[in-house]
Order: sequence, then C-alpha cells, then structure tokens
Amino acid sequence: MRTAIGVDLGGSHVTAAVIGEDGTIHKQYEVDLEDLSFDAVSRVLVDTIGKAVKDPDAKDLAGIGLGSPGNIEPRSGAVLYSPNFKWIDAPLGEMLRSHFDLPVYVGNDARCATLGEYTYGVGRGTKNFVLLTLGTGIGGGIVGDGELILGNRFGAGEIGHHQIRPSGGFVCGCGKTGCFEAQASGTGLIRHAFAVAPSFPRSRLLDVDRDKLGSKKIRKAAQAGDGHALAAWRNFTADLSIGLANIIAFVNPEVIALGGGVSTAADFMLDAVRGRVDELTTMVPRGTTRIVVAKLGNDAGQVGAATMAFRGGLTTQGA
Ligand SMILES: [Zn+2]
Repeated sequence: MRTAIGVDLGGSHVTAAVIGEDGTIHKQYEVDLEDLSFDAVSRVLVDTIGKAVKDPDAKDLAGIGLGSPGNIEPRSGAVLYSPNFKWIDAPLGEMLRSHFDLPVYVGNDARCATLGEYTYGVGRGTKNFVLLTLGTGIGGGIVGDGELILGNRFGAGEIGHHQIRPSGGFVCGCGKTGCFEAQASGTGLIRHAFAVAPSFPRSRLLDVDRDKLGSKKIRKAAQAGDGHALAAWRNFTADLSIGLANIIAFVNPEVIALGGGVSTAADFMLDAVRGRVDELTTMVPRGTTRIVVAKLGNDAGQVGAATMAFRGGLTTQGA
C-alpha cells in the first residue's frame, strides 16, 4: 500500500505523519515551534519531514502534503498571506521541493482537515459536506457535489468570518464585529461568559486568570447546571445555531461536522442547536442536513494533507 507524509503546520508545533492510503497513521513526528519566521519554520519542517520520509513505514511514498494556516496558492504552494505567521508570499512549496525529491502539495490547514474528514471521517459517502472546527477560532471547508470548493482566490470556506452580529457582537481577530468565529468558537464561549457576568455577581466561574480560563471549564460547569455557565452556553449555542442555519442556506449540505475542543460534549451541544437550527431554516427543506461531531479530531489536518498528496491536490483537478 502507498503511503504519504501528512504535515500539519500549526502556530505552536509541526506534526509530520506517515499515513497509509487507507487513512491509517503509522508514525507521527512532532516538534514545537518557537521562532515563527519563515526561515526558522522552514528548518523545523525540513528536519521533521526528513525524519518521517526516512521512517521504515514510509514505503512507496506518493508525496508530501502540508496543511498551513493562511491563504495559499495551491499550484505553487506559496503562502500568499498568513496572519498567524505574519508571512506574505512565503514560498513554502518551492522551499520543500528544493529539499525533497518527492511531489509536494501545500494547502490551507482547514481545507486539508475538511478533505480528511470527507474522505475518512463522517463525510464519507456524502457529496455535499461542511466541516467546522470550533477551537480558538472557527476553521472550515465546503465540499460541493463531491469537490472541495477553493473559490476564485482560494478563500472559499472562510466561514468563521461571516458576520452574525454586526452590531453588539464581539470584535473578531480579523477586525470586524460579530463574526461567527468571534461569537461561536471556544473563545466565543469564554467571551459570552464574561458578557453575562454582571447578571451573576456571586458566580465564581471566572475566578481564574483569563489565560487559564478554557472554554472546557465553562462547558463543564454548564453541564453541571451552573447558572452563570448555562447563561453563557445558551447565548453561545444561539449564535452557533445562526451560523449553522446560514451554512445550510448557502450549501444545503448532507452533513455538517463539528470538530474542535468545544464539540467533545457531543449530545449536550447537538441537543442545544438542532431544534434552533430547524427553526432558523426556511427555504431549504428542514431536517435535510445532519449535524454531527467530527471523527478524526486533531488528526484531521495530517490525514487530509496526506490525502491531498495521494490524489495530487486538494481537488481532483489537481489544484
Ligand atoms: Zn472575523
């Protein structure tokens, strides 16, 4: 069976995995990133991918697939713009091709994760599929009629930055107000908890340093029935439902998969959104989109990047 190297380039670490054509992860090499300059990241990538390429399980290699944050030109593999790394026109694909005598493919990380979940996870067997990763932000991707949609300038799937509360919402990292990401990511849940705090003067929910306060703590407190956490959770799931109903209006997918840390409490989350999403769904026949929890978790990015290498690009047209 062929294998490929699937690489997930994150803001804090690099993972390079040896992955079989059936989606099985054979080996993973992970290294933390300290310096985010292009040269420093390039050195870590070459070193980590080099170990994966030499791994005895890396047999009959189809190529190297790499998922990176940012807006990426898929044919050259150049990162046109990445706010995470503060890169502009970084020649990531060219740099890797100069070090490895293998086909190299570079794609946006969220789009790679979507391809992974579509091929090996809960999207399998569907033709119209959306993945949303609810973490510190919201990443995503859209499959329409069996093809990952990249868009005119590779920006399709930036679902996190459609505005759902342009007045009165939280300010997003992108500069707009009330983006879906600002309202309905893990960070959004924390912001909702702060926003409703004045109504719960005796609550101790937020009595920790803000950098230690995770969305998981608030979600768990809500599950345990804490009034303050439940109020935040209700506002969070209300905003999540608006975004999901909008996606249904745009794409009418068969399945929307929710990934990321917030979605680990599957039933608690899905029970809160399904009814509301149905109420907000108007012209599209109700109940024709299943909302489920994603299956591949943190591995979706690597598996999707390897899938890109197996099929010769993010789309069957080789882009
Ligand atoms: Zn935004």
